[in-house]
Amino acid sequence: MQLSKRITSLTGGVSDGWDVFYRARAMVAAGEKVTELTIGEHDIRTAAPILKEMHEQAMSGHTGYAMVPGTDTLRDTVAKRVQDRTGVPTTRANVLITPGGQAALFAAHAAACDPGDTALYIDPYYATYPGTIRGVSAIPQAVQTRAEDAFQPRKADLETAAKGARSLLINTPNNPTGVVYAHQTLKDIAGVVSDKNLWLISDEVYDTQVWEGEHISPRSLPGMADRTLVVGSMSKSHAMTGSRCGWIIGPEAAIDKLITLATHTTYGVPGYIQDASVFALDQGTDFETDIAAPFRRRRDAARKILAGQNVLGLIPAQGAMYLMLDIRACAESGEGFANALLDHEKIAVMPGESFGQSAAGHIRVAMTIEDNAFAHALRRISAFADGQAARRKGAHPNGAPQIISEPK
Ligand code: PMP
Repeated sequence: MQLSKRITSLTGGVSDGWDVFYRARAMVAAGEKVTELTIGEHDIRTAAPILKEMHEQAMSGHTGYAMVPGTDTLRDTVAKRVQDRTGVPTTRANVLITPGGQAALFAAHAAACDPGDTALYIDPYYATYPGTIRGVSAIPQAVQTRAEDAFQPRKADLETAAKGARSLLINTPNNPTGVVYAHQTLKDIAGVVSDKNLWLISDEVYDTQVWEGEHISPRSLPGMADRTLVVGSMSKSHAMTGSRCGWIIGPEAAIDKLITLATHTTYGVPGYIQDASVFALDQGTDFETDIAAPFRRRRDAARKILAGQNVLGLIPAQGAMYLMLDIRACAESGEGFANALLDHEKIAVMPGESFGQSAAGHIRVAMTIEDNAFAHALRRISAFADGQAARRKGAHPNGAPQIISEPK
């Protein structure tokens, strides 16, 4: 039987960019020791008190169908959190609870776009974005950014792309670049979507991971609450990736229709997961700071380690759990560098090209292993890059990287 074009063309017929990742996993399965700095998964698990609450709520019977829009308590808790953090009046009627941020991204595009509409996203991008847009039968169109602008989109590029488009998807703090959008960038974005009458879909799943600058939700900019759908999640802020709990914040009329969509797609999120999410959010900001702390520490360590060399260029690492490194001084492409690094050093990183053409010539390093091992891996990446750069200049014909001893 023939499958729909929608589902067969979800990845656009190109490689999904995860080749290095799969190769590393195959090496691990074959018994090789590989240092994996690929995916955005915390190295700590969900905290025991959150799991205890989940268990207790399940045992007490909250295992039937939960309210489709989310429980009143969780919607109220999320609304208060958003209002406290942004100053924008927000009630339960502005909140839909979803099975994670990914489902929220899909639903937000379903709400904003009709089949055939152009939906913009910023390149480099989180890997699922174009497929999510195709999933609602809209046409994904990338807006390129530049390494020299620290991957902040330019107003002129947005203006050109926005003509005739229906929505713009942004992500700050950003995966894969680790960049936090400046106030001026967000004002430019708000100006363009208002002038050209676009929906803004604002993916803020890393909003608790800010090392430098300030996270500003564009929904809080003048006139934006009516045209912005914010995507949030428990995954990154509370190390609850496997629990699949997220949300959309938007105008009441949009949430109302999105609830109908949820009734016909997900039918809500398990009640005991929602109860555990309320418990987790009630732990307050100190708890969230603790969850983010390892990434902040590793980013600080990385800056020190990389300060002593001039082959790898560090894109300002202002937030999220990733570092974006410019490898153009020592390799032709991020993909070539990542493959060689895996072969020679048994370290797996993501090629920048996996996240779009704007990130070509870069690699993304996830800061998701224990501090000493992370610092050691970064020193080895740096030494390997030195070797590659020297080899290019003909100094080390074998490209033999400097040997760094194992961490204590
Ligand atoms: N947006 C971005 C930018 C992400 O990096 C991720 C997960 N890696 C998601 C959304 C989806 O997260 P989840 O579905 O776990 O909430």
